[in-house]
Amino acid sequence: MQTASCLIDLECSACGLAHRADQLQKLCSSCGMPLLARYDTARAASTLTRAALSCRRADMWRYQEMLPLQDDDFMLALGEGWTPLLKARFGERIGCPSTYIKDESLNPTGSFKARGLAMAVSRAWELGAKTLAIPSAGNAGSALAAYSAAAGLQAHVFIPSDAPKAFAAEARSYAARVDLVDGLITDCARRVREGVERYGWFDVSTLKEPYRVEGKKTMAYELAEQLDWRLPDVIIYPAGGGTGLIGMWKAFGEMEQLGMIGPERPRMVCVQAENCAPIVKALRENATRAEPWSNARTIADGLRVPAAIGDFLMLQVLRDSHGTGVSVDDGQMLEYARVMAAGSGVFPGLEGAATLAAQVQLLDSGWIGRDETVVLFNTGTPLKHIHLWA
Ligand SMILES: *Cc1c(COP(=O)(O)O)cnc(C)c1O
Repeated sequence: MQTASCLIDLECSACGLAHRADQLQKLCSSCGMPLLARYDTARAASTLTRAALSCRRADMWRYQEMLPLQDDDFMLALGEGWTPLLKARFGERIGCPSTYIKDESLNPTGSFKARGLAMAVSRAWELGAKTLAIPSAGNAGSALAAYSAAAGLQAHVFIPSDAPKAFAAEARSYAARVDLVDGLITDCARRVREGVERYGWFDVSTLKEPYRVEGKKTMAYELAEQLDWRLPDVIIYPAGGGTGLIGMWKAFGEMEQLGMIGPERPRMVCVQAENCAPIVKALRENATRAEPWSNARTIADGLRVPAAIGDFLMLQVLRDSHGTGVSVDDGQMLEYARVMAAGSGVFPGLEGAATLAAQVQLLDSGWIGRDETVVLFNTGTPLKHIHLWA
């Protein structure tokens, strides 16, 4: 059946060139930069109302007017989204009582990558793709494999050989072809490019197709809804490729056009690892693009991204929101994972733990006020790298 999608077309995030949305698209055909989906918000606003949402399905597909899928026969739903927003008990102790955790570890395959890949695989399937490929630090590969299995499509996953074993084991269980690559995610990306040229695979890398962002943006719709349409003062987010930051910022703009929120916005904080912090560095240097980070090293797999095609978009979001960037070392991530777990009941992944370490830094420096409302994103489960705590 036809969905209520109000998708119009795709617009290049750099040069603004419009692209058709009724066929598979990758990057901008003119400048090679990421494409972003545009919707008829006036039409969407007539059915996507605060009141209408109260009786909708409890997953990310509840925002169907503002999602790209056209035919729900292609909707690959495994329970992604509508994750809890939890008031954290440790908020009092760190001097910021209004601290919340958006617990994304409860998504299928244990991370928020499920949102982006549920959307990208559904849409690629709807538009006729047969074989999908991805370079991944781990979680994106697991999610691609799961949604490809749900659709019956072939997936190729390229993971760094030093990533935790759980990722390859999981993806292989979903019948994906998994290749372990000596190197970083950027080396995995080169292998995907070869397969794209040689075998015509469809590349679902971060921002190299337009729809992972559309899945990830639902985090912002949920946040607004769960906070009764009052956005938090600060969102702290562990950024790698940047789909979450870019997607949430896009969603705030959409929600304003839909009349659901006003012009107010949270300050967006990007957290990266001490030994792989290209965006934090570029922000400090007031640059519009980030230099590739050499010798990227961190136990937080999701943050081991030395170069991102969407760097300029992340930097724009951070500046437009009057946000900032913080880096956290591996030892602090392990330490703050325990602080978060014992102080809230949520055992976070290393990336999620990094957001709490960043919040404490920003409270100490006075950048976050003690009476402000702060949302931390726990982006994934720690159980795939549980050996680090053993
Ligand atoms: C991929 C990933 C990130 C980074 O997310 P982006 O939105 O791509 O920046 C953070 N945490 C975890 C657990 C991840 O898997």
